[in-house]
Amino acid sequence: MTDCDVAQNLAGVRRRIEAACERARRDPALVKLVGVTKTVPAERIKPAIEAGLEIIGENYMQEAKSKRDALAGLPVLWHCIGHLQANKAKIALECCDWIESVDSVGLAAELNRRAGLSGRKVPVLIQVNIGSEETKNGIGESELTSFVESCRGFERLELRGLMALPPFFDQPERVRPFFRRMRELLDQLRARDENLCELSMGMSGDFEVAIEEGATIVRVGTAIFGHR
Ligand SMILES: *Cc1c(COP(=O)(O)O)cnc(C)c1O
Repeated sequence: MTDCDVAQNLAGVRRRIEAACERARRDPALVKLVGVTKTVPAERIKPAIEAGLEIIGENYMQEAKSKRDALAGLPVLWHCIGHLQANKAKIALECCDWIESVDSVGLAAELNRRAGLSGRKVPVLIQVNIGSEETKNGIGESELTSFVESCRGFERLELRGLMALPPFFDQPERVRPFFRRMRELLDQLRARDENLCELSMGMSGDFEVAIEEGATIVRVGTAIFGHR
């Protein structure tokens, strides 16, 4: 892939986001695009940032750290979207601005402690295992309310909303019920705390359906950077 391909792909994804917003009568300014860059080298990420990509999503913190160093100074935010052990809280905070994948009280506690040591606050999302899949991380639907309550005491964490990685289907329409359920869960939480307003869901194969169902953050890798 050339730099030009990346920029064109990005423009194409943006157009599709706008079209989905139009169908759903939503403001495209309220949908953030995260460019997912696992296995993509820094020199291929740079043209995307130059073409206006504002947020990078990384799964593995060691990889994120070396790319963040390589791309230092460029105007972009970094989101952690991969599973984190609590002992990776330190490196995650060193290289990420947001943590989208908070999935245990132990991790939340450690992120809170580490953020406190460096005197900052960190925006976080709670990852929900919306398909109750054994192979996936995330908080179960039935534990979500109590999990949110447990996080309330962590004053260094800014709880912004929910993130999900629903079951995979070839046909995006089949994911729609999971996206819709996520929106219901967010609305229930938001009724009690209006700061919970972000919904990170939708990837290359299904981000348009996710937007129609209320996603405020979509995480797109392949459609921008090509196959891994
Ligand atoms: C890889 C990944 C994505 C992006 O997937 P694509 O299908 O390449 O768009 C989004 N979210 C998470 C958590 C991922 O691991």
